[in-house]
Amino acid sequence: MKISILTLFPEVVESYLSASILDLAARRNVVEFEVINFRDFAEGKHRDVDDRPFGGGPGMLLMPGPIVRAVERVQEGHGPDTPTVLLTPQGRRFDQGVAEQWSQRSGLILICGRYEGFDERIRDVLQPIEVSAGDYVLAGGEIPALAVTEAVVRLLPGALGHEDSARDDSFAQGILEGPQYTRPREFRGHAVPDVLLSGNHADIAAWRRQQAEQRTQHRRADLWTRHQNQSASDAEE
Ligand code: SAM
Repeated sequence: MKISILTLFPEVVESYLSASILDLAARRNVVEFEVINFRDFAEGKHRDVDDRPFGGGPGMLLMPGPIVRAVERVQEGHGPDTPTVLLTPQGRRFDQGVAEQWSQRSGLILICGRYEGFDERIRDVLQPIEVSAGDYVLAGGEIPALAVTEAVVRLLPGALGHEDSARDDSFAQGILEGPQYTRPREFRGHAVPDVLLSGNHADIAAWRRQQAEQRTQHRRADLWTRHQNQSASDAEE
């Protein structure tokens, strides 16, 4: 898979890509990263990428010219199944389901905004998929783009050290993951549940399932209801 990230702050993005699982995945050739600076597509003596909004108002907007030229150039290096994604608080909330869908594609193009955001013609011309990291406003799209990148890459075969890791994570089975324990067996009066020390794999699996369901019911009633409905419709088929 090839992931292209377009930004005004390549150093921020490159620094995160060069550590831990993303770096490892790139070295294993599971993924290829490309980081593009919009400023390289700016024109004129000052290489401007932003300007004041028509009609007044605070701050600066990203100009359509450099952004659209940069994205169109990057699209030339991708296949037709690559989604072009614009990070914005106005987009659809990113979740594990979207990460799973995109992990099946050959590439991903992620456009990071800054300042007061994008001139509307960028949306008109590129017709991107608009995605949000949540209902809050950050100063730029770099952190959301890296969150999308990491969520997708860790689903690619060969990206994680242990192939089953992603399968047991929260959301993978439609519910949250239950409590987990490592050494020591007792910590400040809190003991590891006996079942986990029993060596009985069937009992351990049943306990983990029951704990995961209980945790989902308590913490995420919305997720639990969706999971119940899905299980009911699967049973009908
Ligand atoms: N004026 C814009 C609005 O109200 O929708 C917000 C601009 S924000 C300060 C600058 C950039 O940060 C956005 O263009 C976007 O790329 C990114 N950004 C901020 N919050 C985000 C979020 N929750 N999800 C995705 N991107 C976000």
